[in-house]
Amino acid sequence: MPLDIVPSVCPHDCPSACALEVERIEGNRIGRIHGAATQTYTAGIVCAKVARYAERQHHPDRLSQPLRRIGEKGVGRSAFVPVSWDAALDEVAEQLTRAAQRHGSEAVWPYYYSGTMGLVQRDGINRLRHAMRYSREDLTICSMLSGTGWVAGVGARRGVDGREIAKADLIVVWGGNPVSTQVNVMTHVTTARRARGAKLVVVDPYRTASAEAADLHLAPLPGTDGALACAVMHVLFKEGYADREYMTRYADDPEGLEAHLATRDPAWAAAITGLDEGEIVDFARLYGRTKRSYIRVGYGFSRSRNGSLQLFAVTCLPTVTGAWQYEGGGALQSNHGLVPLDHTLLEGLDVLDPATRILDQSRIGPILTGDRRDLGDGPPVSALFIQNTNPMVVAPESGLVRQGFARDDLFVCVHEQFMTETAAMADIVLPATTFLEHDDFYTAGAHTYLQLSRAVLPPHPECRSNHEVVSGLARRLGARHPGFALSPIELIDRTLRASGLPGVEDFPADGWLDCCPPFEIGHFLDGFGHADGKFHFRADWTALGGHNRLPAFPDHVAVTDDGDPERPFRLVAAPSRSFLNTSFNNTPSGIAREGRPTALVHPAALAGLGIADGGRVRIGNRLGSVVVHARAFDGLQRKVVIVEGVWPNHAFEEGIGINLLTSADPGLPRGGAVFHDTSVWLSPA
Ligand code: SF4
Repeated sequence: MPLDIVPSVCPHDCPSACALEVERIEGNRIGRIHGAATQTYTAGIVCAKVARYAERQHHPDRLSQPLRRIGEKGVGRSAFVPVSWDAALDEVAEQLTRAAQRHGSEAVWPYYYSGTMGLVQRDGINRLRHAMRYSREDLTICSMLSGTGWVAGVGARRGVDGREIAKADLIVVWGGNPVSTQVNVMTHVTTARRARGAKLVVVDPYRTASAEAADLHLAPLPGTDGALACAVMHVLFKEGYADREYMTRYADDPEGLEAHLATRDPAWAAAITGLDEGEIVDFARLYGRTKRSYIRVGYGFSRSRNGSLQLFAVTCLPTVTGAWQYEGGGALQSNHGLVPLDHTLLEGLDVLDPATRILDQSRIGPILTGDRRDLGDGPPVSALFIQNTNPMVVAPESGLVRQGFARDDLFVCVHEQFMTETAAMADIVLPATTFLEHDDFYTAGAHTYLQLSRAVLPPHPECRSNHEVVSGLARRLGARHPGFALSPIELIDRTLRASGLPGVEDFPADGWLDCCPPFEIGHFLDGFGHADGKFHFRADWTALGGHNRLPAFPDHVAVTDDGDPERPFRLVAAPSRSFLNTSFNNTPSGIAREGRPTALVHPAALAGLGIADGGRVRIGNRLGSVVVHARAFDGLQRKVVIVEGVWPNHAFEEGIGINLLTSADPGLPRGGAVFHDTSVWLSPA
């Protein structure tokens, strides 16, 4: 059987953006996918989900024809009939035009997210949006809260190269579970442990697989990490671990911070976090005496109303100890801002009208059901064109989302690889290529490579790429922009050159360009990203686009949903190992490994409720309730409940999933979905 190995890049919504080596069989199928050994962040390792990508790529349920719905919404494939591509695109264009004629162009909402992280196939929808003056989209659902918190202190959207984890003596994984969600972090942790005897600390509300692998696990209550960080800094100042010389040179107000922290001692934090004073002090001393300490912050922060403030507090730690100045020291949230790419051609920024309305993607439920806080004086959304996301499952307040999609007066087109629960609500469904079937290029959150990837396989029958569909609609709608007439490779080439980077012909043959800055810049020794070159202990939240309801200094702010006697539990809807949002929740091996929707509940809490291990539990709040099976688990505080996912709605007994319970309230200071910030009650089901 002829087999060749073809390079590619993982497109999924994961910081690692792994460089891949794909086994291609007879030119039209794939076997296993491996990590590229010579790309030094991937270092030969990929997660099991993508290693088994053949399951997804050649899944019998791949969409392979454009479809028009003739039956009820939500039923699935049997409610649709095949149509030609021309008929489907004509109808979509006609419906978008009709919506714009009736209510104005802002009645159309092109809606997307990160089902692919490829810049051509993900962001081209914005070119269509801007050319047509359709409603804009505020991309809040994942990293808004953590990104805002990071920039508040550091002032730039980059951190220390993730490969330096291997050079650290202490790695703190804070608010993430890389064993399940970003395996490459563990590759470099393992190197540091073997080579240097490095210690691993994990801060997470429950004993994840990463916490099990750690030397120390701290499990604060959800939404209290800022209090922990403040108490650690209190100890660092008090016990002489603070690098005052470094702070004098590189920070805005170390004296003000020290005075502010005087009352934020371990006893104060213990009362808020539920941790022992002793473990807070032990952690602070370990961090304080280890110069090469690397904090890898995860996306857990980005799921809480106070997430920005909490993450900001954590970024202050390496500034207090001066860890930023050492190889293997500092912190990383994301490196997506490292490469200053010119997005004009990709996104049509030259035709963007800044007066057009911006709608918060996390609030799609309230928006589709007519919430005037979102719509303002503008028209209701009456047409959606969706690529790369599955809001019927992943967006908060699923009840409202479902109600919105059920509207008779809403036209929906979904361009997808599978009949997702969002696609099942659409009027027109278009079959989409996977990353193995189109060209694209990628930045990364975790590393410093810019990577280019060409199609490995011909498209699955009748599937078209996002770029082809956007360009096909543009032609029909009369949208004008030179980007629609270019191929993906031409878009990549022109974007690279406009950004001062080598074009496609000059790009490294292996497909990855390391954009790692020199040590001085990477470690902010030439100054942090703010105009004064300092790390800011005093955050200016207003300058970050938010209203100023957060304090300037790092602190704990109890704006979270802390519950009441009726809702005494804190629910965290955490990611599972086998699913990535909803991208892999239909592959047989992933479903087999994850089992069924399950709540991890402390054994004492379970006993108090009279529920047996493995019994059914109803979880609820003012938004509704869902039934799952309970598993007794002692790796969390008694009031914390974990449901990993994201499982499809149909996997739940009553046909609606965990996001029925999560709130669409925007996190502070300028939005963000708050998936881990939910108080609930539990009862036997
Ligand atoms: S670890 Fe992340 S980037 Fe790497 S293959 Fe898995 S999903 Fe893709």
